[in-house]
Amino acid sequence: MRGISAEKIMRRFLLLSLAALLFIGRAEGAAKHIFLFIGDGMGTAQRNAAEMYLAGMRDALGDVTPREAQLAMNSLPAQGFIITDSLSGVTDSAAAGTALASGHKTLNGAVGMNPKSGEKFVSIAETAHRRGMKTGVVTSSFFQDATPAAFYGQAKKRTEHYSLGVQLTDSGHEYFGGGGFRNPKGRDKKSADLYGAASSKGYAVIRDLGEQAAAGKVIAVHPKASNGYMPWVIDERGGPSLADLVDYGIGRLDGDDGFFMMVEGGKIDLACHAHDAAAAVRETIEFDEAVERALEFMKRRPESTLIVVTGDHETGGMTLGSFNTESNTVYDTLSLQQGSYSVFERRTASKKGEKMADAMDAAKKFFGPWLTVTPDIEKAFKLSAMDAKKRKTAVADYNKRYSAYDPFTVACMALSNAQCGITWSTFVHTGKKVPVSAAGASSELFAGEYENTGICDRILSAMNDGQ
Ligand SMILES: [Zn+2]
Repeated sequence: MRGISAEKIMRRFLLLSLAALLFIGRAEGAAKHIFLFIGDGMGTAQRNAAEMYLAGMRDALGDVTPREAQLAMNSLPAQGFIITDSLSGVTDSAAAGTALASGHKTLNGAVGMNPKSGEKFVSIAETAHRRGMKTGVVTSSFFQDATPAAFYGQAKKRTEHYSLGVQLTDSGHEYFGGGGFRNPKGRDKKSADLYGAASSKGYAVIRDLGEQAAAGKVIAVHPKASNGYMPWVIDERGGPSLADLVDYGIGRLDGDDGFFMMVEGGKIDLACHAHDAAAAVRETIEFDEAVERALEFMKRRPESTLIVVTGDHETGGMTLGSFNTESNTVYDTLSLQQGSYSVFERRTASKKGEKMADAMDAAKKFFGPWLTVTPDIEKAFKLSAMDAKKRKTAVADYNKRYSAYDPFTVACMALSNAQCGITWSTFVHTGKKVPVSAAGASSELFAGEYENTGICDRILSAMNDGQ
């Protein structure tokens, strides 16, 4: 069973008790050591599900009361909500990242600028850098993905990955950590290598956090990244966690000049797009462990540290409670899932022509023993066996049912999720408000409800001594 160890859970409990103590007697002053955590696709339900999963795991261990499984981010003293809409309506990550980073709303697809007027925005990371603070951008996704890009670049279209990569190497931010560049030589593989460009501009590129890199700018690439993404937490990837990348960043950036570090949990969104609750929960917990590292840092600089945690939008319309369980939730059963949806998708694709009974045996082993053949699963199994083009026209509502995913995987996961009490309303983003949590210097500014652009404005105020 791929659960979470009792030791890890107890460590979390001790840390949270410590975190609560830290908030007492907080001194006022300008925020100089600033963390902005962004859970991509992370709304209230995602945070809540992760917490209930932890509680379920602890219950299963015969341990403590569920309430004590509170996530670090949910325990922060200032809590608020942001409205996430972009100028296009329900936001994408590019427009949302731009709003959070620069305080300007834009159209979906655009990074750091208004694509119609051509106006370019200055990100809070750039402002901090201009003021002499050190700056860092960390993500479990690839460096040129929309959220991290909003903190160093501008592009009319978020898919301009090569141009954004070049802008990264020119940004001057002292630290980048994550999956790495996607298509470092461009889509046609004919452009100059972005890692080479980074080196020539003074960046040390490392693939092992234990490697000695000279003082100065550094790019830390996850050694097991694929297509620029860090591997799924649930796939037991090895290599550094998001929290390790945060710790490493603290080591690189901390000093009297202060720093600004943006940390994105980039794969919560991907898991929710695919309706993979087990993967989403594990990514959210890993993201929360990164928040814990910032809380530990705050002990060293209690007067000047500010920690802000939010999401850019909610993904999937995740709902806690379902008809199947009469609204009960049994999230620890999510721990039975043996890997991410993408692992099972690959299995399905590689076993075309196999018998339904064999596929169901494999599905039970992968998702949980409660899976049974339902009309939905039978229908999906037949579609998965078809040629990819044919299947899309075989049923009228194909896209609504399966989006771009493997039908058999989607159907098995839907039943498995529902068994835990989790259901979904869409394969894309929703317009739900998302929670904001903050601790430390001027954190009270982050309470209440406001537009997503208010995150950038409030961080600026906190940097200006809470004015
Ligand atoms: Zn997003």
